[in-house]
Amino acid sequence: KRKATIIGAGIAGIATAIRLAVKGYDVVVFEANAYPGGKLSEIYGNGYRFDAGPSLFTMPQYVDELFTLAGKPSPFKYQKLNVVCKYFYTDGTRLTAYADEDKFVSEVAAVTSESPERIKRYFKNSRNIYNITNHVFLQRSLHRLNTFFRWDTLRSVLRFAGIDAFRTMHHANQSFFTDERLIQFFDRYATYNGSNPYQAPATLNVIPHLEQHFGAYFPDGGMYSITTSLVNLAQSVGVKFNFNSAVDEIVLTDGLKAKVVKVKGELIKADVVVSNMDVWFTYNKLLKPYPQLWPQKVLKQERSSSALIFYWGIKKTFPQLDLHNVFFADDYKAEFDCIWQQQSIYRDPTVYINISSKLKADDAPTGCENWFVMINVPANNNQDWDLLIAQARKNILDKLAQNLGEDIGALIEYESVLDPRSIQLKTSSYKGSIYGTSSNNQFAAFLRHSNKSSKVGGLYFCGGSVHPGGGIPLALLSAKIVGNWVA
Ligand code: FAD
Repeated sequence: KRKATIIGAGIAGIATAIRLAVKGYDVVVFEANAYPGGKLSEIYGNGYRFDAGPSLFTMPQYVDELFTLAGKPSPFKYQKLNVVCKYFYTDGTRLTAYADEDKFVSEVAAVTSESPERIKRYFKNSRNIYNITNHVFLQRSLHRLNTFFRWDTLRSVLRFAGIDAFRTMHHANQSFFTDERLIQFFDRYATYNGSNPYQAPATLNVIPHLEQHFGAYFPDGGMYSITTSLVNLAQSVGVKFNFNSAVDEIVLTDGLKAKVVKVKGELIKADVVVSNMDVWFTYNKLLKPYPQLWPQKVLKQERSSSALIFYWGIKKTFPQLDLHNVFFADDYKAEFDCIWQQQSIYRDPTVYINISSKLKADDAPTGCENWFVMINVPANNNQDWDLLIAQARKNILDKLAQNLGEDIGALIEYESVLDPRSIQLKTSSYKGSIYGTSSNNQFAAFLRHSNKSSKVGGLYFCGGSVHPGGGIPLALLSAKIVGNWVA
């Protein structure tokens, strides 16, 4: 039986392991941490449970697909959200993003000055971008010739102008809407892959379609159950997991083939090696002796933004809040300038609060809520994080007091913090970026690392730092591309 070694049990590593096991490989996963999931993990404290990283679950079909592929019934259950998110603006405007498009359009038309026709036209444009890009940019490798000899690729190339790659998201949103609140609403989607709407190409305006058309979901067992369900599935098809087992080196044969990895001094042989480790560290740590093989241009790409998260156990319930809540910055442009140009944290940041206990009551003690409070921050460039975090905490509490009329600080009975430094430490993500490289220019999609090395035989890559990009759905698609590519 052919053997495959997977480096890392992030969600893409687990999904790749399932795909290769189903293909007949003997699969062994080495994970540096004591637990699986990487960014998709959970933490506990004081009677509270928190999903540590991702909180918004979209495109659940890519999880279901793995159970179908393995021919196993899926115990992984989730519900579709009727309210995707509640938005709070500094001028007092409140906007509820309903999943139902007509309901959402009526809500926006009632709250803002935009006409329903314009909003519908926007979603049509978003759907159009999806139809052109999906097969070429998401479902397949951009580094295989056979992708380009397909009829659907050719059709996409002919419709290329429709993907709106030559102006920024913000610019495009301004051409659709006049109400600043709606422009801010749609600009925010750039942050779904850690980018800046004032720089990222308008192609990213595809994201509202993904959320609106395919929906937002919540797994019954919380986000971490995506990880646990897939680990169980992997084990049921024979995948073996080794935790607390960091791979230290990919040892190349003379013919530049990746046939051996070194773990705790032991040499482990395989026919195929798949790295789910951030591609930057895969080269800089695991392939350190071979700088001549490093794809320098790809590794120099700008990193996505990172995140600062406060996990707060709150001893009160807030009926005006939902599962997902966003408190917008007063000046969005100033916030993004601060993150991307000044590499700092804006004084009035956009605050995202996720409260999983709204739908999963046992995540918090009775009468309490588990608040995952996140703001976007720059990747780690050795800023004075302790100082920035202390200032941000105060600014966030001031903002929430203004919006909710309550001293939230006094209600916090549990607290822990995740910042760019700890994200890098916990998941080996270069600079603590949460979505790999940014999409701040129109070439970003082409400059993400391929899912297979062009120089090292038998070496494949999956996960949020390589093609097609960050976020759970794309990380799962990277696993699909690797699964299809491995012979
Ligand atoms: P990672 O999660 O990066 O895991 C890589 C694994 O490899 C880790 O477990 C690491 O320990 C292991 N590893 C690294 N080096 C080695 C080595 N040498 N040997 C062995 N093991 C190694 N996505 C969404 O879809 N929705 C969201 O709402 C969302 N929000 C997010 C919020 C935060 C705070 C963060 C951090 C991320 C968020 N994301 C979200 C992004 C999403 O979490 C990631 O894109 C996805 O989980 C990345 O998965 P991955 O497979 O690339 O692996």
